[in-house]
Amino acid sequence: SPHLTPVPRRVLLPAPRSFCAGVERAIEIVERLLEVHGPPVYVRNQIVHNAHVVADLEARGAVFVGELDEVPDDALVVFSAHGVAPAVEREAAARGLDAVDATCPLVAKVHAEAKRAADNGDTVILIGHEGHEEVVGTVGVAPDRTILVDSADAVADLRVPDPAKLTYLSQTTLAVAEVEAIAAALQQRFPAIKGQGAEDICYATSNRQAAVAAVVAEADLVLVVGSANSSNSNRLVELARTAGVPAHLIEDAGAIDPAWLQEAETVAVTAGASAPPRLVDEVVQSLAALGPIEVIERVHTRETQEFLLPQRLRPRTAHPN
Ligand code: SF4
Repeated sequence: SPHLTPVPRRVLLPAPRSFCAGVERAIEIVERLLEVHGPPVYVRNQIVHNAHVVADLEARGAVFVGELDEVPDDALVVFSAHGVAPAVEREAAARGLDAVDATCPLVAKVHAEAKRAADNGDTVILIGHEGHEEVVGTVGVAPDRTILVDSADAVADLRVPDPAKLTYLSQTTLAVAEVEAIAAALQQRFPAIKGQGAEDICYATSNRQAAVAAVVAEADLVLVVGSANSSNSNRLVELARTAGVPAHLIEDAGAIDPAWLQEAETVAVTAGASAPPRLVDEVVQSLAALGPIEVIERVHTRETQEFLLPQRLRPRTAHPN
């Protein structure tokens, strides 16, 4: 009988995926401090929402804490990429802690917008998920003047002091389509509200969503590498499921259930902005271990964004002459 060659499983790799510039910068800040200052380097909250990144830095001398009262006096402490409320910065200063801010510049930009709106006497309507660290920080910019909203339905129940004095902003890692729907509901109910649609969603979040959206119709299964507390990773899973394609959030290759793959001739593999690229490589390797695969890179957008390190950590450049 003729020898049958199995049809290789197609593995689509939408790009961009995995690390964004804000995550790379935050990790590099902790790495540089570990080199320059030596351990321990305290980090308030997970530097980025990824268990592998946190474990790796912990092994090298980073100490992750939930609150500043767990940081000894005179220690060095890093604020995570998600940003902190101004009250936390004030507490660090009052304690004399040496604080290094790894807040993503795109989160800092939303903080600046919140401050400007509140200084102008506006109430800030923040589109975001209650309890997420970024939201806690952004609400903290003007805690008495900020109202959180997480769905278009909830807009009908909002009570605001003055409908003529409103600005809306959003968390950076939400679903673009969802924020657009909430923004439209806000515009409808409060015609005088100021805001810019889904503009606060960062380039990395929107690019990863667009890249998955471009391949999802071809996929029988979507695997998203990311930790359970990663907002932008969860949005990628939702996007695929909304398109009718089974999707799973996986911490790493070890989390793949072989049963998912039985009927899956085409598998799309992506990763949230906080998940290291190496974990995607390992997922591809473990798919290859199950049978022949054909790996196809699908570039939607090329990212060139880079963020400077804080001044004190920038490499010294040689003077001319
Ligand atoms: Fe910054 Fe966006 Fe990356 Fe968050 S996901 S660190 S906001 S670039």
